[in-house]
Amino acid sequence: MNKYDLVIVGGGPSGYAAAMRALDFKKKILLIEKNRVGGAGVTNGALSSKTWWEISREVSAFRKSLKRYNIPTPTVSFKEIQEEVRQAIQGRKSMLEDHMNALQNSNYSSLLEFKIGEARLLTHNEVEITHGAKTEVVWAENIILATGSRPRYLPELPIDEKIVMTSEGIEDMEDFPESMVIVGAGVIGCEYATIFSGFGRTKVHLIDKGDRILPFEDADVVRIIERNMDNNGVLIHRNSRLVKMKIVNGRVEYELEYTDGSREIFNVEKALVSVGRTPNYEDLWSDKVAINVTTKGIENYDTQTTVKNIYAVGDITADISLVNVGELEGRYAVELIFGKPERKLVYENISTIMFLSPEVAGVGLNETRAKELKIDYKVVTLDYSTIARAIAKRNTQGFIKLLVTNDEKMKILGMKVVGLHASSAIQAVAVLISMDKGIEELAECVHPHPSITEGIQECVRMLMGKSLFKPAALVGKISCKSCVGGEYEDIIF
Ligand SMILES: Cc1cc2nc3c(=O)[nH]c(=O)nc-3n(C[C@H](O)[C@H](O)[C@H](O)COP(=O)(O)OP(=O)(O)OC[C@H]3O[C@@H](n4cnc5c(N)ncnc54)[C@H](O)[C@@H]3O)c2cc1C
Repeated sequence: MNKYDLVIVGGGPSGYAAAMRALDFKKKILLIEKNRVGGAGVTNGALSSKTWWEISREVSAFRKSLKRYNIPTPTVSFKEIQEEVRQAIQGRKSMLEDHMNALQNSNYSSLLEFKIGEARLLTHNEVEITHGAKTEVVWAENIILATGSRPRYLPELPIDEKIVMTSEGIEDMEDFPESMVIVGAGVIGCEYATIFSGFGRTKVHLIDKGDRILPFEDADVVRIIERNMDNNGVLIHRNSRLVKMKIVNGRVEYELEYTDGSREIFNVEKALVSVGRTPNYEDLWSDKVAINVTTKGIENYDTQTTVKNIYAVGDITADISLVNVGELEGRYAVELIFGKPERKLVYENISTIMFLSPEVAGVGLNETRAKELKIDYKVVTLDYSTIARAIAKRNTQGFIKLLVTNDEKMKILGMKVVGLHASSAIQAVAVLISMDKGIEELAECVHPHPSITEGIQECVRMLMGKSLFKPAALVGKISCKSCVGGEYEDIIF
């Protein structure tokens, strides 16, 4: 029986990152993947949906520009876009596979092995791998489970991945549907609503249980996103509950019940169900393996399960489903096994992007969360119309919001940027939060001009009472307040 220091089950972002980190410790590793290297980080997930989003954004901007100059808009071809997305997926998958092949032919050759097959734990150290009719068992000193997640299916919905789809089927459609309902107004549902409404070929309906989409987000962020969805013709069914969905003559009929008790029936061409993800651990281990699972998923302590030599990372742990979190956990688990992690596993300072219109990037706490945690804070906001780069881009929709502690130190609690270049703008603040720094560092460095990061600097300078623009003179564009016990008060210097 082949023996390894570490066997990693699952070659998605978490498992791949774990394998590469384990090589740094010069350990003998086996990575097992049953289907597609890169997992949902590449296929029917992060990379593919972001490629759709990028193309949709380009098409939408192009359509707006042509309209501005009174030029008729050409029709975009679904098949061509689909092909473009497939090339992106293939490019990334090949890159990951070629990297692994090259490592196996390098001075890591005795350390790294990769096998295609479905893995199952027979005991705490024995892993069975099945590929077609072939089965083998290997011995593992340590095991990392990184088998990810899949879309949550609601049994009452007729999901066939052709007419009623999840993220597994949506990218394989034949053409733009003329209409589509999206069940679930969380991040992924809203991203697909943005993508399909952006192409201008699909009337999108979005079913939302509450009175606004993205319930965990601050109201000012949601306002902009909802306004743009409205402008793109998205019909948001607010305060509504899906009571029935069926396929009738190859189309989707669904019935909603609103909070006032009234009901309404709609008919659309396709449906996308986006109601969360389910971790993949059914039948992943035999009865001889004592991994504990609770209603919250696999019980784990900083990635270590209830079995000492078995770890669980990424989407399988059913906490935060993001590529960067999976990679963080994968690397951390390896450091726990073979060394001492240099840092604690903390989730507070994870940077996130929501690929909407416009894009929304954030790090640390938002106001909603700070209030839930009963944390007092200072908050400064600055509208994109005050930033030269946004003016040059001819798109001043958006704002920057920075939260700091309500004391002299003004430690950064979190930041949100809504608008163009949002994702690149937050990076400096993400670094400062992770270094537990105050705001002075940002106030004094010289940013390139014109850039969106100048807006962040202006926020910081406002908090220090030395900004270029003064809140009292630009009411509605910039503001600087404290929030104590949920009550706001202007900060006047
Ligand atoms: C539509 C969509 C959009 C997303 N967008 C973003 C985004 O913009 N940014 C972001 O950070 N995240 C995004 N995510 C989330 C991100 O894709 C996941 O958090 C990430 O892929 C999780 O990585 P993982 O390695 O834990 O799991 P996965 O990516 O699911 O990989 C698990 C792998 O394990 C394999 N496997 C399963 N069982 C076995 C077995 N028994 N034996 C061998 N192999 C097995 C699977 O084939 C798979 O390749 C998105 C997800 C979706 C669905």
